[in-house]
Amino acid sequence: MPDSSATPSPRRPGQPLDALIIGAGFSGMYMLHRLRDRLGLNALVVERGGDVGGTWYWNRYPGARCDSESHSYCFAFSEELWRGWDWSQRYPDHAEIRRYMNYVAERLDLRRDIRFGTNVTACAYDEAANLWRVTVEGGEVLAARYLITGVGCLSTANVPQLPGLEDFAGQWYHTGEWPHEGVDLGGKRVGQIGTGSTGIQAAPAIAAEAAHLTVFQRTANYSSPANNQPLSAERKAWMRDNWAEIRRVMHATTNGHPFTVEDRSVHDVSDRELKEILDAAWDFGGLQFRAGFRDVLLDETANAKLAAYLKNKILEIVQDPAKARLLADIDHPYAAKRPPIDSGYFETFNRDNVDLVDVRADPIERVTPGGIRLESGREIALDVIVFATGYDALTGPLLKLNISGAGGRTLAQEWAAGPRTYLGLQVAGFPNLFTVTGPGSPSVLCNLPVPIEQHVEWIADCIAHLRAEGVSRIEPSVAAVEAWGQEVKRAADATLLSRVPHSWYLGANVPGKPRVFMPYAGGMARYRAHCDQVAARGYEGFVLRREATSDAA
Ligand code: NAP
Repeated sequence: MPDSSATPSPRRPGQPLDALIIGAGFSGMYMLHRLRDRLGLNALVVERGGDVGGTWYWNRYPGARCDSESHSYCFAFSEELWRGWDWSQRYPDHAEIRRYMNYVAERLDLRRDIRFGTNVTACAYDEAANLWRVTVEGGEVLAARYLITGVGCLSTANVPQLPGLEDFAGQWYHTGEWPHEGVDLGGKRVGQIGTGSTGIQAAPAIAAEAAHLTVFQRTANYSSPANNQPLSAERKAWMRDNWAEIRRVMHATTNGHPFTVEDRSVHDVSDRELKEILDAAWDFGGLQFRAGFRDVLLDETANAKLAAYLKNKILEIVQDPAKARLLADIDHPYAAKRPPIDSGYFETFNRDNVDLVDVRADPIERVTPGGIRLESGREIALDVIVFATGYDALTGPLLKLNISGAGGRTLAQEWAAGPRTYLGLQVAGFPNLFTVTGPGSPSVLCNLPVPIEQHVEWIADCIAHLRAEGVSRIEPSVAAVEAWGQEVKRAADATLLSRVPHSWYLGANVPGKPRVFMPYAGGMARYRAHCDQVAARGYEGFVLRREATSDAA
Protein backbone atom coordinates (compact mmCIF):
# COMPACT_ATOMS: atom_id res chain seq x y z
CA MET A 1 0.00 0.00 0.00
CA PRO A 2 -0.57 2.35 -1.64
CA ASP A 3 -1.04 0.54 -4.93
CA SER A 4 0.64 2.93 -7.33
CA SER A 5 0.56 1.05 -10.58
CA ALA A 6 0.39 4.45 -12.28
CA THR A 7 1.81 7.82 -11.35
CA PRO A 8 0.21 11.05 -12.59
CA SER A 9 2.54 13.29 -14.56
CA PRO A 10 3.08 16.68 -12.88
CA ARG A 11 0.42 19.23 -13.79
CA ARG A 12 1.52 22.51 -15.38
CA PRO A 13 0.22 25.66 -13.67
CA GLY A 14 -3.23 26.46 -15.05
CA GLN A 15 -3.59 23.06 -16.68
CA PRO A 16 -7.01 21.53 -15.99
CA LEU A 17 -7.32 18.50 -13.78
CA ASP A 18 -8.16 15.20 -15.36
CA ALA A 19 -10.78 14.64 -12.69
CA LEU A 20 -12.37 16.65 -9.92
CA ILE A 21 -14.14 14.60 -7.27
CA ILE A 22 -16.59 16.19 -4.83
CA GLY A 23 -16.73 14.63 -1.36
CA ALA A 24 -14.25 12.70 0.77
CA GLY A 25 -16.48 9.94 2.08
CA PHE A 26 -16.27 6.32 0.95
CA SER A 27 -17.06 7.32 -2.66
CA GLY A 28 -14.58 10.15 -3.08
CA MET A 29 -11.77 8.38 -1.27
CA TYR A 30 -11.95 5.26 -3.41
CA MET A 31 -12.52 7.27 -6.59
CA LEU A 32 -9.35 9.22 -5.93
CA HIS A 33 -7.38 6.04 -5.32
CA ARG A 34 -8.72 4.39 -8.43
CA LEU A 35 -8.13 7.35 -10.76
CA ARG A 36 -4.84 8.57 -9.34
CA ASP A 37 -3.11 5.35 -8.33
CA ARG A 38 -4.45 2.93 -10.93
CA LEU A 39 -5.00 5.16 -13.98
CA GLY A 40 -2.36 7.81 -13.30
CA LEU A 41 -4.83 10.69 -13.61
CA ASN A 42 -4.38 14.10 -12.07
CA ALA A 43 -7.29 13.98 -9.65
CA LEU A 44 -8.31 16.20 -6.79
CA VAL A 45 -10.99 15.81 -4.14
CA VAL A 46 -12.75 18.85 -2.69
CA GLU A 47 -14.54 18.31 0.60
CA ARG A 48 -16.58 20.81 2.63
CA GLY A 49 -15.79 19.05 5.94
CA GLY A 50 -12.54 19.29 7.85
CA ASP A 51 -11.53 15.66 7.38
CA VAL A 52 -12.43 12.44 5.58
CA GLY A 53 -15.62 10.61 6.54
CA GLY A 54 -18.43 12.05 4.42
CA THR A 55 -21.74 11.33 6.14
CA TRP A 56 -19.86 10.10 9.18
CA TYR A 57 -17.92 13.33 9.50
CA TRP A 58 -21.25 15.03 10.33
CA ASN A 59 -23.37 12.33 11.96
CA ARG A 60 -22.23 12.35 15.59
CA TYR A 61 -25.61 12.35 17.33
CA PRO A 62 -26.05 10.30 20.52
CA GLY A 63 -26.35 6.62 19.58
CA ALA A 64 -25.05 7.12 16.00
CA ARG A 65 -23.91 3.74 14.80
CA CYS A 66 -24.02 1.90 11.49
CA ASP A 67 -26.80 -0.62 10.96
CA SER A 68 -24.58 -2.69 8.66
CA GLU A 69 -22.22 -5.09 10.38
CA SER A 70 -18.65 -3.86 10.73
CA HIS A 71 -17.02 -6.39 8.45
CA SER A 72 -19.34 -5.38 5.63
CA TYR A 73 -19.26 -1.63 6.22
CA CYS A 74 -15.79 -1.08 4.84
CA PHE A 75 -13.81 -1.31 1.64
CA ALA A 76 -13.53 -4.82 0.26
CA PHE A 77 -11.55 -4.12 -2.92
CA SER A 78 -8.20 -4.91 -1.31
CA GLU A 79 -7.48 -7.88 0.92
CA GLU A 80 -4.42 -6.12 2.28
CA LEU A 81 -6.47 -3.08 3.34
CA TRP A 82 -9.12 -5.40 4.78
CA ARG A 83 -6.67 -7.41 6.86
CA GLY A 84 -5.01 -4.31 8.27
CA TRP A 85 -8.05 -3.21 10.27
CA ASP A 86 -9.80 -4.80 13.26
CA TRP A 87 -13.34 -3.76 14.19
CA SER A 88 -14.18 -3.73 17.88
CA GLN A 89 -17.96 -4.27 17.79
CA ARG A 90 -20.58 -6.01 15.70
CA TYR A 91 -21.77 -2.58 14.45
CA PRO A 92 -19.28 0.28 14.35
CA ASP A 93 -20.20 3.55 16.04
CA HIS A 94 -19.60 6.86 14.29
CA ALA A 95 -16.23 7.46 15.96
CA GLU A 96 -14.90 4.03 14.99
CA ILE A 97 -16.00 4.54 11.37
CA ARG A 98 -14.08 7.82 11.29
CA ARG A 99 -11.01 6.09 12.72
CA TYR A 100 -11.35 3.47 9.99
CA MET A 101 -11.61 6.10 7.27
CA ASN A 102 -8.54 7.84 8.64
CA TYR A 103 -6.73 4.51 8.49
CA VAL A 104 -7.71 4.18 4.81
CA ALA A 105 -6.65 7.76 4.05
CA GLU A 106 -3.24 7.03 5.59
CA ARG A 107 -2.74 3.65 3.95
CA LEU A 108 -3.64 4.95 0.50
CA ASP A 109 -1.88 8.28 1.04
CA LEU A 110 -5.03 10.14 0.01
CA ARG A 111 -4.81 13.38 1.98
CA ARG A 112 -2.26 15.05 -0.28
CA ASP A 113 -4.91 15.23 -3.01
CA ILE A 114 -7.88 16.25 -0.86
CA ARG A 115 -8.72 19.88 -0.16
CA PHE A 116 -10.74 20.06 3.04
CA GLY A 117 -12.96 22.97 4.06
CA THR A 118 -13.72 23.54 0.38
CA ASN A 119 -17.39 24.05 -0.37
CA VAL A 120 -18.54 23.80 -3.97
CA THR A 121 -20.97 26.56 -4.93
CA ALA A 122 -21.44 25.89 -8.67
CA CYS A 123 -20.42 23.44 -11.40
CA ALA A 124 -20.76 24.53 -15.02
CA TYR A 125 -20.00 22.56 -18.16
CA ASP A 126 -18.00 24.64 -20.63
CA GLU A 127 -19.04 23.11 -23.92
CA ALA A 128 -16.41 24.83 -26.08
CA ALA A 129 -13.50 23.66 -23.94
CA ASN A 130 -15.20 20.40 -22.94
CA LEU A 131 -14.33 21.08 -19.32
CA TRP A 132 -16.19 21.29 -16.05
CA ARG A 133 -15.59 24.58 -14.25
CA VAL A 134 -16.22 24.21 -10.55
CA THR A 135 -16.50 27.26 -8.34
CA VAL A 136 -15.70 26.90 -4.67
CA GLU A 137 -16.57 29.23 -1.82
CA GLY A 138 -14.28 32.23 -2.04
CA GLY A 139 -14.59 32.35 -5.82
CA GLU A 140 -11.75 30.10 -7.01
CA VAL A 141 -12.63 28.14 -10.15
CA LEU A 142 -11.17 24.68 -10.78
CA ALA A 143 -11.28 23.12 -14.25
CA ALA A 144 -11.45 19.40 -14.95
CA ARG A 145 -12.28 17.04 -17.81
CA TYR A 146 -14.34 14.70 -15.62
CA LEU A 147 -16.50 15.75 -12.71
CA ILE A 148 -17.43 13.01 -10.28
CA THR A 149 -19.80 13.54 -7.39
CA GLY A 150 -19.34 11.51 -4.23
CA VAL A 151 -21.64 13.64 -2.13
CA GLY A 152 -23.62 10.82 -0.53
CA CYS A 153 -27.33 10.15 -0.60
CA LEU A 154 -28.25 11.41 2.86
CA SER A 155 -26.21 14.52 3.42
CA THR A 156 -28.70 17.38 3.02
CA ALA A 157 -30.52 17.87 6.34
CA ASN A 158 -34.28 18.21 6.22
CA VAL A 159 -35.29 20.62 8.99
CA PRO A 160 -39.06 21.21 8.97
CA GLN A 161 -40.09 24.85 8.68
CA LEU A 162 -41.81 25.04 12.05
CA PRO A 163 -43.17 28.49 12.80
CA GLY A 164 -41.49 30.10 15.79
CA LEU A 165 -38.27 28.07 15.61
CA GLU A 166 -36.23 31.27 15.33
CA ASP A 167 -37.63 32.44 18.68
CA PHE A 168 -36.90 29.22 20.58
CA ALA A 169 -34.97 30.14 23.71
CA GLY A 170 -33.23 26.78 23.96
CA GLN A 171 -30.91 25.02 21.48
CA TRP A 172 -31.92 22.96 18.49
CA TYR A 173 -29.91 20.54 16.40
CA HIS A 174 -30.40 18.30 13.37
CA THR A 175 -28.87 14.87 13.95
CA GLY A 176 -26.97 15.07 10.65
CA GLU A 177 -25.23 18.29 11.68
CA TRP A 178 -24.44 17.43 15.28
CA PRO A 179 -21.84 19.69 16.94
CA HIS A 180 -18.43 18.04 16.93
CA GLU A 181 -17.78 19.03 20.51
CA GLY A 182 -20.95 17.18 21.54
CA VAL A 183 -24.00 18.53 23.33
CA ASP A 184 -24.36 18.31 27.10
CA LEU A 185 -27.91 17.04 27.57
CA GLY A 186 -27.48 16.46 31.31
CA GLY A 187 -30.39 17.95 33.27
CA LYS A 188 -32.12 19.10 30.06
CA ARG A 189 -35.68 18.58 28.84
CA VAL A 190 -35.23 17.28 25.29
CA GLY A 191 -37.82 17.01 22.53
CA GLN A 192 -36.97 14.63 19.71
CA ILE A 193 -38.93 14.94 16.48
CA GLY A 194 -38.75 11.89 14.23
CA THR A 195 -38.80 8.15 14.64
CA GLY A 196 -36.90 6.89 11.60
CA SER A 197 -33.65 4.90 11.77
CA THR A 198 -31.89 7.90 13.30
CA GLY A 199 -34.52 8.73 15.92
CA ILE A 200 -34.75 5.08 16.92
CA GLN A 201 -30.98 5.02 17.53
CA ALA A 202 -30.92 8.38 19.29
CA ALA A 203 -33.85 8.08 21.72
CA PRO A 204 -32.31 5.46 24.07
CA ALA A 205 -29.01 7.38 24.22
CA ILE A 206 -30.73 10.73 24.80
CA ALA A 207 -33.06 9.29 27.45
CA ALA A 208 -30.09 7.89 29.33
CA GLU A 209 -28.43 11.31 29.51
CA ALA A 210 -31.20 13.91 29.63
CA ALA A 211 -33.47 14.82 32.52
CA HIS A 212 -36.49 14.18 30.31
CA LEU A 213 -37.18 13.12 26.73
CA THR A 214 -40.38 13.71 24.76
CA VAL A 215 -40.52 11.80 21.49
CA PHE A 216 -42.78 13.42 18.88
CA GLN A 217 -44.00 10.58 16.64
CA ARG A 218 -45.79 11.23 13.35
CA THR A 219 -45.51 7.76 11.83
CA ALA A 220 -45.01 4.74 14.07
CA ASN A 221 -42.17 2.50 12.91
CA TYR A 222 -41.05 -1.10 13.15
CA SER A 223 -37.75 -1.95 14.71
CA SER A 224 -35.95 -5.12 15.72
CA PRO A 225 -32.95 -5.49 18.02
CA ALA A 226 -29.46 -4.83 16.67
CA ASN A 227 -27.94 -7.04 19.34
CA ASN A 228 -24.73 -5.08 19.24
CA GLN A 229 -21.80 -6.59 21.13
CA PRO A 230 -18.02 -6.53 21.28
CA LEU A 231 -16.38 -8.84 18.76
CA SER A 232 -14.52 -11.81 20.19
CA ALA A 233 -10.94 -12.58 19.14
CA GLU A 234 -12.25 -15.63 17.25
CA ARG A 235 -14.83 -13.59 15.34
CA LYS A 236 -12.22 -10.96 14.43
CA ALA A 237 -9.89 -13.68 13.17
CA TRP A 238 -12.73 -15.19 11.14
CA MET A 239 -13.45 -11.82 9.54
CA ARG A 240 -9.79 -11.23 8.73
CA ASP A 241 -9.32 -14.67 7.19
CA ASN A 242 -12.50 -14.81 5.12
CA TRP A 243 -12.23 -11.72 2.97
CA ALA A 244 -12.84 -13.52 -0.32
CA GLU A 245 -15.92 -15.41 0.86
CA ILE A 246 -17.48 -12.41 2.65
CA ARG A 247 -16.94 -10.31 -0.47
CA ARG A 248 -18.39 -13.02 -2.70
CA VAL A 249 -21.59 -13.12 -0.61
CA MET A 250 -21.90 -9.32 -0.51
CA HIS A 251 -21.59 -9.23 -4.30
CA ALA A 252 -24.15 -11.97 -4.78
CA THR A 253 -26.99 -10.60 -2.66
CA THR A 254 -29.78 -8.15 -3.37
CA ASN A 255 -28.80 -5.65 -0.70
CA GLY A 256 -25.02 -6.10 -0.57
CA HIS A 257 -25.13 -7.45 2.97
CA PRO A 258 -22.92 -10.34 4.02
CA PHE A 259 -25.83 -12.75 4.42
CA THR A 260 -28.12 -14.41 1.91
CA VAL A 261 -31.91 -14.27 1.82
CA GLU A 262 -33.49 -17.69 2.42
CA ASP A 263 -35.14 -19.07 -0.71
CA ARG A 264 -38.48 -19.90 0.91
CA SER A 265 -41.87 -18.23 1.18
CA VAL A 266 -43.49 -17.19 4.43
CA HIS A 267 -46.38 -19.34 3.19
CA ASP A 268 -44.14 -22.45 3.07
CA VAL A 269 -43.94 -22.69 6.86
CA SER A 270 -46.53 -23.35 9.56
CA ASP A 271 -47.40 -20.64 12.08
CA ARG A 272 -45.39 -22.51 14.72
CA GLU A 273 -42.33 -22.75 12.44
CA LEU A 274 -42.71 -19.10 11.50
CA LYS A 275 -42.65 -18.08 15.15
CA GLU A 276 -39.57 -20.22 15.79
CA ILE A 277 -37.77 -18.69 12.81
CA LEU A 278 -38.70 -15.14 13.80
CA ASP A 279 -37.83 -15.70 17.48
CA ALA A 280 -34.39 -16.92 16.43
CA ALA A 281 -33.97 -13.97 14.06
CA TRP A 282 -35.10 -11.52 16.77
CA ASP A 283 -32.54 -12.96 19.20
CA PHE A 284 -29.78 -12.98 16.59
CA GLY A 285 -30.47 -9.34 15.77
CA GLY A 286 -29.72 -7.04 12.87
CA LEU A 287 -31.08 -6.34 9.41
CA GLN A 288 -30.92 -10.09 8.84
CA PHE A 289 -34.36 -10.21 10.47
CA ARG A 290 -35.92 -9.62 7.05
CA ALA A 291 -33.77 -12.25 5.33
CA GLY A 292 -35.59 -15.37 6.49
CA PHE A 293 -37.94 -15.35 3.51
CA ARG A 294 -37.79 -14.28 -0.13
CA ASP A 295 -41.26 -12.74 -0.30
CA VAL A 296 -41.29 -10.26 2.60
CA LEU A 297 -41.21 -7.29 0.24
CA LEU A 298 -43.11 -8.93 -2.59
CA ASP A 299 -46.28 -10.30 -1.06
CA GLU A 300 -48.56 -8.29 1.19
CA THR A 301 -49.96 -11.28 3.05
CA ALA A 302 -46.47 -12.69 3.68
CA ASN A 303 -45.35 -9.30 4.90
CA ALA A 304 -48.38 -8.98 7.18
CA LYS A 305 -47.25 -12.03 9.16
CA LEU A 306 -43.88 -10.47 9.97
CA ALA A 307 -45.55 -7.14 10.66
CA ALA A 308 -47.93 -8.79 13.13
CA TYR A 309 -45.02 -10.49 14.90
CA LEU A 310 -43.17 -7.19 15.28
CA LYS A 311 -46.22 -5.23 16.43
CA ASN A 312 -46.86 -7.90 19.03
CA LYS A 313 -43.28 -7.54 20.27
CA ILE A 314 -43.90 -3.82 20.83
CA LEU A 315 -47.06 -4.56 22.82
CA GLU A 316 -45.09 -7.09 24.92
CA ILE A 317 -42.15 -4.77 25.61
CA VAL A 318 -43.86 -1.44 26.31
CA GLN A 319 -45.61 -1.52 29.68
CA ASP A 320 -47.83 1.56 29.38
CA PRO A 321 -50.76 0.37 27.20
CA ALA A 322 -51.39 3.82 25.72
CA LYS A 323 -47.76 4.23 24.62
CA ALA A 324 -47.64 0.63 23.41
CA ARG A 325 -50.75 1.13 21.28
CA LEU A 326 -49.34 4.27 19.70
CA LEU A 327 -45.96 2.69 18.97
CA ALA A 328 -47.54 -0.42 17.47
CA ASP A 329 -50.06 1.49 15.37
CA ILE A 330 -47.94 1.15 12.22
CA ASP A 331 -49.58 1.97 8.90
CA HIS A 332 -47.20 0.46 6.35
CA PRO A 333 -45.76 -2.95 5.49
CA TYR A 334 -42.63 -4.08 7.36
CA ALA A 335 -39.38 -2.98 5.63
CA ALA A 336 -41.27 -1.02 2.98
CA LYS A 337 -39.61 1.97 4.60
CA ARG A 338 -35.99 1.44 5.62
CA PRO A 339 -36.24 -0.96 8.61
CA PRO A 340 -34.47 0.43 11.66
CA ILE A 341 -32.63 -1.76 14.14
CA ASP A 342 -32.20 -0.63 17.71
CA SER A 343 -30.52 -0.94 21.05
CA GLY A 344 -33.43 -0.74 23.48
CA TYR A 345 -35.73 1.65 21.60
CA PHE A 346 -39.08 0.30 22.76
CA GLU A 347 -37.69 -0.39 26.27
CA THR A 348 -36.86 3.34 26.45
CA PHE A 349 -40.59 4.08 26.74
CA ASN A 350 -40.66 2.16 30.03
CA ARG A 351 -38.44 4.82 31.62
CA ASP A 352 -40.06 7.38 33.91
CA ASN A 353 -38.36 10.22 32.07
CA VAL A 354 -39.70 9.42 28.58
CA ASP A 355 -43.00 10.56 27.04
CA LEU A 356 -44.48 9.90 23.63
CA VAL A 357 -46.58 12.45 21.75
CA ASP A 358 -48.66 11.54 18.71
CA VAL A 359 -48.24 14.44 16.31
CA ARG A 360 -50.37 12.80 13.67
CA ALA A 361 -53.40 13.08 15.98
CA ASP A 362 -52.30 16.41 17.45
CA PRO A 363 -49.85 18.11 15.06
CA ILE A 364 -47.18 20.57 16.09
CA GLU A 365 -48.66 24.06 15.78
CA ARG A 366 -45.50 26.02 16.48
CA VAL A 367 -42.31 26.30 18.43
CA THR A 368 -42.61 28.78 21.29
CA PRO A 369 -39.73 30.35 23.20
CA GLY A 370 -40.24 27.71 25.90
CA GLY A 371 -40.96 24.58 23.87
CA ILE A 372 -43.42 23.10 21.39
CA ARG A 373 -47.15 23.87 21.20
CA LEU A 374 -49.53 21.37 19.63
CA GLU A 375 -52.71 22.22 17.75
CA SER A 376 -54.77 21.17 20.78
CA GLY A 377 -53.07 23.98 22.73
CA ARG A 378 -50.99 21.59 24.82
CA GLU A 379 -47.49 22.97 25.35
CA ILE A 380 -44.42 20.84 26.08
CA ALA A 381 -41.62 22.71 27.84
CA LEU A 382 -38.22 22.01 26.30
CA ASP A 383 -34.60 23.12 26.63
CA VAL A 384 -33.36 21.28 23.52
CA ILE A 385 -35.07 20.19 20.29
CA VAL A 386 -33.46 17.36 18.33
CA PHE A 387 -34.57 17.10 14.72
CA ALA A 388 -34.22 13.46 13.67
CA THR A 389 -36.23 14.44 10.63
CA GLY A 390 -34.13 12.94 7.89
CA TYR A 391 -32.79 14.26 4.62
CA ASP A 392 -33.59 15.69 1.24
CA ALA A 393 -32.36 12.32 0.05
CA LEU A 394 -30.54 11.38 -3.15
CA THR A 395 -31.33 14.44 -5.25
CA GLY A 396 -30.80 17.07 -2.52
CA PRO A 397 -27.00 16.74 -2.26
CA LEU A 398 -26.63 16.93 -6.06
CA LEU A 399 -29.00 19.86 -6.61
CA LYS A 400 -27.15 21.79 -3.90
CA LEU A 401 -24.08 21.81 -6.16
CA ASN A 402 -25.82 24.14 -8.68
CA ILE A 403 -24.84 22.04 -11.66
CA SER A 404 -25.45 23.32 -15.19
CA GLY A 405 -24.76 21.25 -18.27
CA ALA A 406 -24.72 21.75 -22.03
CA GLY A 407 -26.48 24.92 -23.15
CA GLY A 408 -26.59 26.17 -19.56
CA ARG A 409 -29.49 23.85 -18.68
CA THR A 410 -29.46 23.28 -14.94
CA LEU A 411 -29.81 19.96 -13.17
CA ALA A 412 -32.72 21.51 -11.27
CA GLN A 413 -34.49 22.12 -14.62
CA GLU A 414 -33.63 18.66 -15.88
CA TRP A 415 -35.01 17.06 -12.71
CA ALA A 416 -37.99 19.36 -12.15
CA ALA A 417 -40.36 16.38 -12.39
CA GLY A 418 -37.98 14.00 -10.57
CA PRO A 419 -34.51 12.62 -11.25
CA ARG A 420 -33.78 11.28 -14.73
CA THR A 421 -30.55 9.31 -15.06
CA TYR A 422 -29.05 6.39 -16.89
CA LEU A 423 -28.13 3.71 -14.33
CA GLY A 424 -27.87 6.44 -11.68
CA LEU A 425 -24.45 7.14 -13.18
CA GLN A 426 -25.00 9.88 -15.74
CA VAL A 427 -27.52 12.50 -16.85
CA ALA A 428 -28.28 13.34 -20.50
CA GLY A 429 -26.98 16.80 -21.39
CA PHE A 430 -24.29 16.72 -18.69
CA PRO A 431 -21.28 15.20 -20.50
CA ASN A 432 -18.42 13.73 -18.47
CA LEU A 433 -20.35 14.13 -15.20
CA PHE A 434 -20.58 10.93 -13.16
CA THR A 435 -22.68 10.56 -10.02
CA VAL A 436 -21.56 7.88 -7.56
CA THR A 437 -24.70 6.22 -6.10
CA GLY A 438 -26.92 8.68 -7.94
CA PRO A 439 -30.72 8.37 -8.07
CA GLY A 440 -31.68 5.43 -10.23
CA SER A 441 -28.94 3.22 -8.80
CA PRO A 442 -29.48 0.75 -5.91
CA SER A 443 -27.63 3.02 -3.42
CA VAL A 444 -29.68 3.42 -0.22
CA LEU A 445 -31.40 0.07 -0.64
CA CYS A 446 -27.99 -1.53 -0.06
CA ASN A 447 -25.17 -1.76 2.37
CA LEU A 448 -23.60 1.34 0.83
CA PRO A 449 -19.90 0.44 0.52
CA VAL A 450 -20.91 -2.30 -1.95
CA PRO A 451 -22.70 -0.07 -4.50
CA ILE A 452 -20.07 2.61 -3.96
CA GLU A 453 -17.24 0.23 -4.88
CA GLN A 454 -19.16 -1.01 -7.90
CA HIS A 455 -19.85 2.52 -9.14
CA VAL A 456 -16.30 3.73 -8.58
CA GLU A 457 -14.84 0.74 -10.42
CA TRP A 458 -17.32 1.06 -13.29
CA ILE A 459 -16.61 4.79 -13.66
CA ALA A 460 -12.83 4.28 -13.52
CA ASP A 461 -13.03 1.50 -16.14
CA CYS A 462 -15.23 3.72 -18.29
CA ILE A 463 -12.78 6.62 -18.10
CA ALA A 464 -9.90 4.26 -18.94
CA HIS A 465 -11.85 3.09 -21.97
CA LEU A 466 -12.59 6.65 -23.10
CA ARG A 467 -8.93 7.58 -22.85
CA ALA A 468 -7.78 4.46 -24.65
CA GLU A 469 -10.25 5.08 -27.47
CA GLY A 470 -9.65 8.81 -27.73
CA VAL A 471 -13.23 9.60 -26.73
CA SER A 472 -13.59 13.09 -25.33
CA ARG A 473 -17.23 13.16 -24.21
CA ILE A 474 -19.65 10.67 -22.79
CA GLU A 475 -23.27 11.16 -21.86
CA PRO A 476 -26.32 8.93 -22.04
CA SER A 477 -28.84 9.09 -24.86
CA VAL A 478 -32.26 10.48 -23.98
CA ALA A 479 -33.75 7.13 -25.04
CA ALA A 480 -31.52 5.23 -22.60
CA VAL A 481 -32.50 7.58 -19.77
CA GLU A 482 -36.20 7.12 -20.59
CA ALA A 483 -35.86 3.35 -20.69
CA TRP A 484 -33.91 3.24 -17.43
CA GLY A 485 -36.51 5.44 -15.74
CA GLN A 486 -39.16 2.90 -16.78
CA GLU A 487 -37.02 0.07 -15.42
CA VAL A 488 -36.56 1.86 -12.06
CA LYS A 489 -40.33 2.33 -11.83
CA ARG A 490 -41.05 -1.26 -12.85
CA ALA A 491 -38.59 -2.62 -10.26
CA ALA A 492 -40.13 -0.51 -7.47
CA ASP A 493 -43.68 -1.36 -8.46
CA ALA A 494 -42.84 -5.06 -8.29
CA THR A 495 -42.22 -4.63 -4.54
CA LEU A 496 -44.10 -3.13 -1.61
CA LEU A 497 -41.52 -0.32 -1.45
CA SER A 498 -43.38 2.05 -3.74
CA ARG A 499 -46.65 1.66 -1.82
CA VAL A 500 -45.73 3.76 1.21
CA PRO A 501 -46.98 7.28 0.51
CA HIS A 502 -44.83 8.95 3.21
CA SER A 503 -41.49 7.36 2.31
CA TRP A 504 -38.36 9.36 1.65
CA TYR A 505 -37.55 6.85 -1.11
CA LEU A 506 -40.32 8.71 -2.98
CA GLY A 507 -39.28 12.16 -1.87
CA ALA A 508 -42.47 12.46 0.19
CA ASN A 509 -40.68 13.84 3.26
CA VAL A 510 -39.70 17.13 1.61
CA PRO A 511 -42.52 19.59 0.83
CA GLY A 512 -42.77 20.25 -2.92
CA LYS A 513 -40.38 17.47 -3.92
CA PRO A 514 -41.63 15.43 -6.91
CA ARG A 515 -42.99 12.02 -5.88
CA VAL A 516 -40.80 9.64 -7.86
CA PHE A 517 -39.36 6.41 -6.48
CA MET A 518 -35.65 7.21 -6.69
CA PRO A 519 -33.44 4.18 -5.93
CA TYR A 520 -33.30 1.10 -8.17
CA ALA A 521 -35.07 -1.76 -6.37
CA GLY A 522 -34.10 -4.54 -8.75
CA GLY A 523 -31.22 -5.68 -6.55
CA MET A 524 -27.52 -4.97 -6.47
CA ALA A 525 -26.38 -8.23 -8.06
CA ARG A 526 -28.70 -7.78 -11.01
CA TYR A 527 -27.75 -4.12 -11.35
CA ARG A 528 -24.03 -4.99 -11.37
CA ALA A 529 -24.56 -7.57 -14.12
CA HIS A 530 -26.53 -5.03 -16.14
CA CYS A 531 -23.80 -2.36 -15.83
CA ASP A 532 -21.17 -4.93 -16.84
CA GLN A 533 -23.21 -5.84 -19.88
CA VAL A 534 -23.61 -2.18 -20.86
CA ALA A 535 -19.82 -1.76 -20.75
CA ALA A 536 -19.17 -5.02 -22.57
CA ARG A 537 -21.44 -3.85 -25.40
CA GLY A 538 -19.29 -0.79 -25.94
CA TYR A 539 -21.16 1.42 -23.44
CA GLU A 540 -24.57 0.73 -24.87
CA GLY A 541 -26.98 3.60 -24.26
CA PHE A 542 -24.19 6.16 -23.97
CA VAL A 543 -23.21 8.62 -26.68
CA LEU A 544 -19.43 8.69 -27.10
CA ARG A 545 -17.90 11.54 -29.07
CA ARG A 546 -14.38 11.74 -30.43
CA GLU A 547 -14.16 15.31 -31.72
CA ALA A 548 -10.92 17.19 -31.19
CA THR A 549 -11.24 19.65 -28.30
CA SER A 550 -9.09 22.25 -26.72
CA ASP A 551 -7.52 21.39 -23.41
CA ALA A 552 -7.03 25.01 -22.56
CA ALA A 553 -8.17 26.03 -19.10
P1 NAP B 1 -36.22 9.42 8.07
O1 NAP B 1 -36.21 7.96 7.91
O2 NAP B 1 -36.65 10.28 6.95
O3 NAP B 1 -37.12 9.73 9.34
C1 NAP B 1 -37.49 11.03 9.66
C2 NAP B 1 -38.48 11.00 10.77
O4 NAP B 1 -38.85 12.35 11.07
C3 NAP B 1 -39.76 10.27 10.42
O5 NAP B 1 -40.26 9.65 11.56
C4 NAP B 1 -40.68 11.42 9.97
O6 NAP B 1 -42.03 11.14 10.08
C5 NAP B 1 -40.26 12.47 10.96
N1 NAP B 1 -40.58 13.82 10.52
C6 NAP B 1 -40.06 14.47 9.46
N2 NAP B 1 -40.58 15.71 9.38
C7 NAP B 1 -41.45 15.82 10.41
C8 NAP B 1 -42.32 16.85 10.85
N3 NAP B 1 -42.40 18.02 10.21
N4 NAP B 1 -43.07 16.63 11.95
C9 NAP B 1 -42.99 15.45 12.59
N5 NAP B 1 -42.21 14.43 12.22
C10 NAP B 1 -41.45 14.62 11.13
O7 NAP B 1 -34.78 9.98 8.52
P2 NAP B 1 -33.63 9.26 9.35
O8 NAP B 1 -34.18 8.56 10.52
O9 NAP B 1 -32.56 10.24 9.56
O10 NAP B 1 -33.13 8.15 8.39
C11 NAP B 1 -32.83 8.43 7.05
C12 NAP B 1 -32.01 7.30 6.49
O11 NAP B 1 -30.68 7.42 6.93
C13 NAP B 1 -32.41 5.92 6.95
O12 NAP B 1 -33.56 5.45 6.33
C14 NAP B 1 -31.17 5.15 6.64
O13 NAP B 1 -31.11 4.82 5.29
C15 NAP B 1 -30.11 6.15 7.00
N6 NAP B 1 -29.63 5.91 8.35
C16 NAP B 1 -28.70 4.94 8.52
C17 NAP B 1 -28.25 4.67 9.76
C18 NAP B 1 -27.23 3.65 9.95
O14 NAP B 1 -27.01 2.74 9.24
N7 NAP B 1 -26.57 3.81 11.01
C19 NAP B 1 -28.72 5.37 10.87
C20 NAP B 1 -29.65 6.34 10.67
C21 NAP B 1 -30.09 6.62 9.40
P3 NAP B 1 -42.84 10.52 8.81
O15 NAP B 1 -42.40 9.09 8.72
O16 NAP B 1 -44.25 10.72 9.17
O17 NAP B 1 -42.41 11.31 7.60
